[in-house]
Amino acid sequence: MSPLKYSPSKEHPDWLSVPSIFEGVSLSKGVGMGYAFFHSANPSPDQTSVDLSLKQELSHEDEKTKLDQAFDALQKEINGLLLVNFHNSQSEPKKILEAYQLLVNDQGWKRRLFKEIDHGKSATQAVDRVLDTLKKQFSDDPFWQERLFDLDDISQRLLIYLKQEKYAQNTDPSIPIIVIAQNLGPAALLKYHQRNLKGVVLAETGRTSHSAIIARSLGIPVVGGIDAISSKIHSTDSILVNGDIGRVYIRPAENIIRALDKKKARHIPNGANSSPGSSTTLDGIQIELHLNANLSEDLRHLDDGIAQGVGLYRTEIPFMLSDGIPSVETQTRFYQQTLDLAGTKPVVFRTLDVGEGKRSILAQSNKTNKSPSKNWRGWRDIRLTLDRPMIMRQQLRALIRARCQSQHPEDPLYLMVPMIADLAEFMAVRHLVALETKREQKLGNPVPESIKVGAMIEVPALVYQLSSLVKVVDFLSIGSNDLFQFFYAIERENTDLSRRFDVLSPSFLLFIKSIQDQVSPYQIPLSMCGEMASHPLEAMAVLGLGLRRLSVTPGSLESVQAMIRSLNVQKFMPYLLSICQQTPSDFINRPFGLASSIRQKLGIFAMDHGIIV
Ligand code: PEP
Ligand code: MG
Repeated sequence: MSPLKYSPSKEHPDWLSVPSIFEGVSLSKGVGMGYAFFHSANPSPDQTSVDLSLKQELSHEDEKTKLDQAFDALQKEINGLLLVNFHNSQSEPKKILEAYQLLVNDQGWKRRLFKEIDHGKSATQAVDRVLDTLKKQFSDDPFWQERLFDLDDISQRLLIYLKQEKYAQNTDPSIPIIVIAQNLGPAALLKYHQRNLKGVVLAETGRTSHSAIIARSLGIPVVGGIDAISSKIHSTDSILVNGDIGRVYIRPAENIIRALDKKKARHIPNGANSSPGSSTTLDGIQIELHLNANLSEDLRHLDDGIAQGVGLYRTEIPFMLSDGIPSVETQTRFYQQTLDLAGTKPVVFRTLDVGEGKRSILAQSNKTNKSPSKNWRGWRDIRLTLDRPMIMRQQLRALIRARCQSQHPEDPLYLMVPMIADLAEFMAVRHLVALETKREQKLGNPVPESIKVGAMIEVPALVYQLSSLVKVVDFLSIGSNDLFQFFYAIERENTDLSRRFDVLSPSFLLFIKSIQDQVSPYQIPLSMCGEMASHPLEAMAVLGLGLRRLSVTPGSLESVQAMIRSLNVQKFMPYLLSICQQTPSDFINRPFGLASSIRQKLGIFAMDHGIIV
């Protein structure tokens, strides 16, 4: 942790000098500390009134010139970002910036803006108005939602130039900053990343937003769901963002800083188990640790020597960043590069998992859908790709070819199918895999020596079909993010409810145990790749239920490994089961849902037994 220290400003009123803590939602893990930096993209009402006076002073032509100049400045900024950051790279952030470049050159958008100026609006009002109109017109259209987000981001940056505000104005770029914003687009995030960005605090909570995804891959801690923070901070305040637990400390006390320093120092404990590759518990049980990947950037964490492979590759993320569905050739190239980056380590490719929050990919599919928003809920993932089998077949074709063209064509191809609710769906996917394999053979193309097809357990209904499923799958992985939301009937993005129910409740834990108990008699590897496995305390519980494979976000590899190495799992298992037995008295006068949480008891157990969580 940087030696940044809270030093209260003389002008602070008393209430602004005391440390305070805000609880939010972790959108990207890690811990960072810096000075508050307010992202000024969203115009305040005051700025609008300034705008009105400008309108009286400037002619239409002046406003048009201002707009042209702002476009030029924005264009230069994006070109500069591309040149400095992504020269010779094929990364996803680069693709986003390229999409922005196209938007800035979009003549249709410019025409609308100029038309607004012709109708008497100022340049800034025109930007706001066109954005509002497009939002109203298309907000229900899944295809447009991703584009509107990009347009929103780029419009806000245009407004900054129109108001002659610039990032980092009067600010030393070497000063560590925590950016505070309502929402932050990927372009702004990348821009701040060029500076000494240590963390981000957002009012919004979109875990699957482009920014959150990119922040995770860049290792920037982000906490969302924190409102009304600005009025409680002064720009000279230090802020600590703990993305591991979704907490933000304003003017953090010395002991908090010291505790987090200590936690970091303890990540690699000394002792017999301290070689980087070993994830063995104190009582000698070997745990398989893999990583979850969203971008090719995530694969570099394989070099740290902790993860044995990629337990979940979310293939929809590269899809989301491209316009429509990428061709088989593009997909093949991309998967092949991914496999080559991983070398001999296995990569489990999850077939397209599209749904709420990951919509742009559906552009093509929804063109034929008269009312996409009405039909959307529930029509996602495997349901959608089985209804549009060509999407699935093309992806399978690309994956088969990528494996054969990779540096290790003899290694198995691992495919994982999300959101299976019914055994027949899994069988349908297996059938498509067989069809694609045959097709390649007919064409005289090579096929992988072995294709392993697994299923994700994310829908509770599947848990009652396990006795049949185990006979047809090669491996299984619990997607606790979705499984939890369907188990408790809560939306996973809903911050209010996320505090009402806890994954560390006996009902959910025993449900996972029932999966483990049903699968363990068979030689089917069972892992957990949902976020639950990425938090040390939760991961400890998962091991206590008997699972021996975890796939975690790259930022959690070290902390989960540190927990594993400090845990005596055989001692812990009976304790865990004993506290899962509750009686009605445990629920009297306790908050709904959380009443049954055993989080506190697990935390105390960990503390008493020196387990690093
Ligand atoms: C899950 O649901 O737990 C999972 C890993 O998939 P995703 O978070 O991508 O929906
Ligand atoms: Mg899922």
